[in-house]
Amino acid sequence: MELGIAGKRALICASSKGLGLGCARALAEAGANIVMNARGEEALALAAEGIRSTCEVEVTAVAADITTEEGRAQVLQAAGDVDILVTNAGGPPPGVWSDWDREGFIAALDANMLTPIALMKALLPGMIDRGWGRVVNITSQSVKAPIAALGLSNSARAGLTGYVAGTSRQVAPYGVVINNMLPGIHATDRAVALDTGVAQQEELTLEQARARREQSIPAGRYGTPEEFGAMCAFLCSQHAGFIIGQNILLDGGATNATL
Ligand code: NAP
Repeated sequence: MELGIAGKRALICASSKGLGLGCARALAEAGANIVMNARGEEALALAAEGIRSTCEVEVTAVAADITTEEGRAQVLQAAGDVDILVTNAGGPPPGVWSDWDREGFIAALDANMLTPIALMKALLPGMIDRGWGRVVNITSQSVKAPIAALGLSNSARAGLTGYVAGTSRQVAPYGVVINNMLPGIHATDRAVALDTGVAQQEELTLEQARARREQSIPAGRYGTPEEFGAMCAFLCSQHAGFIIGQNILLDGGATNATL
């Protein structure tokens, strides 16, 4: 399927690895010129080179912490006029309700709610002026079905979801489309880190911890960054103009709900 976004300029935050990288690669394969970002320079340069070597598009890499004001300023300056924005950042650490204090909440809100909002506020005016734009926010399955140990994530991402629900409808008349993608378990470093924690706690091997989690997913496996990227590219395509403010769950059927 022709996605109709060749030559568009896309900023994909937190994209040297995992889901962000899956989105960056899929957008580049669709012909978009991409701006990639992560904190670690080396992995980012490697990821950017990997895409450059297979896609004939411009690839710009900006090493910066997207959750800080200075980092965002650096990324936005390099990115220029952006047609497609994919927001992403690392997720907050797991814990128990009684662990989480004001400082922890502020950090989670900064990373997973206020950062994507700041990026949208910076880039939506240009999209509106040009009469076309696409925004995809990477949130989490936990928005629909809470993951108890990820209370900081549940809270911050719920806040972002509320913001997007209204804002997406305010910008839709100008040809700007905002949606959220809600990953369930995907085979990325984040999944390995969570499985490693469980394995250590319960004296299992990493393979046992993963196999047990895979059994909880009707699809019987983890999702892949490639599958995730393909949906992201579709939501950023010309075909997505009538999909407004939706929360698209990609979880292999793990969330047991009819709607
Ligand atoms: P990942 O494999 O650990 O990759 C995270 C990427 O984000 C890396 O490129 C990392 O590079 C970059 N990053 C992290 N913090 C950053 C920051 N402050 N500024 C700029 N770049 C940053 O993680 P993932 O699995 O793709 O997860 C992406 C998001 O989806 C996370 O918020 C996660 O909580 C959420 N999620 C993931 C899953 C899953 O199963 N994978 C499920 C639900 C939700 P640097 O470390 O070098 O900055």
